[in-house]
Amino acid sequence: MASYGALVAKHGTYEEFEAAVGKAVGEISLDKARLACLKYKVELMEALRNELKVMDEMMDKSQPLLETLIALGADPTSVPHPERVCHRCRKPNVTWSASSVLWNRVMRKNGEGSEPFAGIVCPTCFIVLAKEAGIDEVWRVQIANHDQGEEK
Ligand SMILES: [Zn+2]
Repeated sequence: MASYGALVAKHGTYEEFEAAVGKAVGEISLDKARLACLKYKVELMEALRNELKVMDEMMDKSQPLLETLIALGADPTSVPHPERVCHRCRKPNVTWSASSVLWNRVMRKNGEGSEPFAGIVCPTCFIVLAKEAGIDEVWRVQIANHDQGEEK
């Protein structure tokens, strides 16, 4: 039977921890298993409480900025669209698209898995990432809903 500390380190979520402790019942008593689960629950709640405390402190710190923005006439309820800013370079993003094949070659290099930068990058960053993925080409910008041959 692994120690409590080793089980905690190995099993991040409560469910995983509980399952691991459950398997050890027999080697350890049911009471001991229940106590270990309770202890882990308390530790997780403590960690959550600390995260909430940090969030509260951040909210307190941002209050003067929020009040300044309101004084300047900003609407605090209007949240900017998350894709308005590139998650790679933090500069303004535009509405744009790439074919699924190209997007997947650049953003999902192994075909599966999560996309870097939450999948929100500006065209320039996309081109930089494409180059890093081995696609070093000359790029053309065109309006998506216009005919291919039509230059406007
Ligand atoms: Zn960018």
